[in-house]
Amino acid sequence: MVQRVAIVGAGVSGLAAIKCCREEGLEPTCFERSEDIGGLWRYAERAEEGRASIYRTVFTNSCKEMMCYPDFPFPDDHPNYMHNTKLQEYIWKFAEHFDLLRHIRFKTLVTKIKKRPDFSVSGQWDVITEKEGKKETEVFDAVMICSGHHVYPNFPADSFPGIQKFKGCYFHSREYKAPEKFRGKNVLVIGLGNSGCDIAVELSTVASQVYLSSRSGSWVMSRVWEHGYPWDMKIVTRFQTWLETILPRALSDWLYVKRMNWPFKHENFGLMPVDGTLRKEPVFNDDLPSRIACGVVVVKPNVKEFRETSVLFQDGTVQKDVDVVIFATGYSFCYPFMEDDSIIKSRDNTITLYKSILPPQLEKPTLAVIGLVQSLGAIIPTSELQCRWAVKVFQGKWKGTSWANDLAFPSMSKGDLSSLFPRYGTSNTLQMDYITYMDELATAIGAKPNLPKLLLTDPRLALEVFFGPCTPYQFRLTGPGKWSGARRAILTQWDRTLR
Ligand code: FAD
Repeated sequence: MVQRVAIVGAGVSGLAAIKCCREEGLEPTCFERSEDIGGLWRYAERAEEGRASIYRTVFTNSCKEMMCYPDFPFPDDHPNYMHNTKLQEYIWKFAEHFDLLRHIRFKTLVTKIKKRPDFSVSGQWDVITEKEGKKETEVFDAVMICSGHHVYPNFPADSFPGIQKFKGCYFHSREYKAPEKFRGKNVLVIGLGNSGCDIAVELSTVASQVYLSSRSGSWVMSRVWEHGYPWDMKIVTRFQTWLETILPRALSDWLYVKRMNWPFKHENFGLMPVDGTLRKEPVFNDDLPSRIACGVVVVKPNVKEFRETSVLFQDGTVQKDVDVVIFATGYSFCYPFMEDDSIIKSRDNTITLYKSILPPQLEKPTLAVIGLVQSLGAIIPTSELQCRWAVKVFQGKWKGTSWANDLAFPSMSKGDLSSLFPRYGTSNTLQMDYITYMDELATAIGAKPNLPKLLLTDPRLALEVFFGPCTPYQFRLTGPGKWSGARRAILTQWDRTLR
């Protein structure tokens, strides 16, 4: 019987894990290497080893109604998109409200997680930790890994010929904090992800000139969408997901490209994605198109070669006098504390986690990786539902008849992901369709809202659930973990948004 659960990390995923373990009567122990909760969202003046590092002006790109814990809405007076300090306040309120802090051991680094010798029978793990130089080994029945995946820079210096010759300064975006020291410089930002765009736009207010280099383009969306409403409340709906499934592929691709080009034609701005029909995660930036239009950010193709003070691009153009290069080239997953990290790590960019949570090759399903997904949905509700699902699996409480068969992993491990490749491409297999994925997990634990029944018993609510935004409250409306405030929260979500 699983009783004691070790949780690695006290970011938003780790806190969800503690709460879910408690709800199921398990004993969680959460190890956090730093002295505070919040993970990525706790800003620090300098990047800390082993913890995600953000710049001073990071704002959320999911709105408050879409990114809350499903039984803990944001206060009415919070803005729809929040500065990191505001989100950190909310995370603290959540932890205090549900009395989670007493389960956390701060300043405790998990250095190794390994199977016990009798793992095939017991499913237990040895968890080795270090606090102030003192090592300790404890036995746990299950482990939840919530250590984040924006920590270890993907810094492909080798794929940029000549970078060693370059006499200016260069570094990964993880080290970037604020724009002041780049005043009057010529800066090249490499990478058209969220960080690259944010940094380019921010630097354009002080730098002499900013260049933004992209290999394959990207859709750039605005937080403020149709009629000024939050983009995610308009786009992440069950109705939209249903349309995507019933429309012929060519028509849905055409509509998708048309919609993404609605605010501005990406081709004209040099931002058009190489395969625009793939539903890869867009970039959220309200200011980039106007910065480009004003000429303070200049879009460039991929870099071909670095020289001492200049840069040659793939289109043959040369940019002289570049002072600084910032590599906003993303992150790689890394689990240095796993004795055998091939249990989790993706090979050839193929995820080997069942439901993006459980390593399929384990003899016992007692290890869960939380938060290792990307979708149009926010991470907090996704991690929360993953935790509820994982805890049920630990306990063998799987809805339906065949959980044992379903977890007869090898044939299943890739099965449900491969069908997504045509829509999301193979280069980013963390990418999921949010509502489809959430419904899959919710169905397995008996928490998916039953729309036909709802239509008969509570039509007003049913219509809001189907046509309105798929807010996290929907997954606490029914079944185990039902929250009595969920119905009201759904029916008042637009009021809080306008407030
Ligand atoms: P983290 O927040 O990274 O927390 C992991 C924790 O584990 C840390 O506290 C770390 O100290 C601890 N830890 C790690 N290793 C160990 C160890 N060995 N021992 C003990 N402790 C350990 N997502 C959204 O949904 N909406 C957004 O608007 C959004 N904006 C983003 C903006 C940026 C710039 C970035 C980089 C990401 C953004 N994300 C966003 C995604 C983001 O990753 C998640 O929001 C979220 O922070 C992930 O939480 P987590 O708890 O899984 O991991």
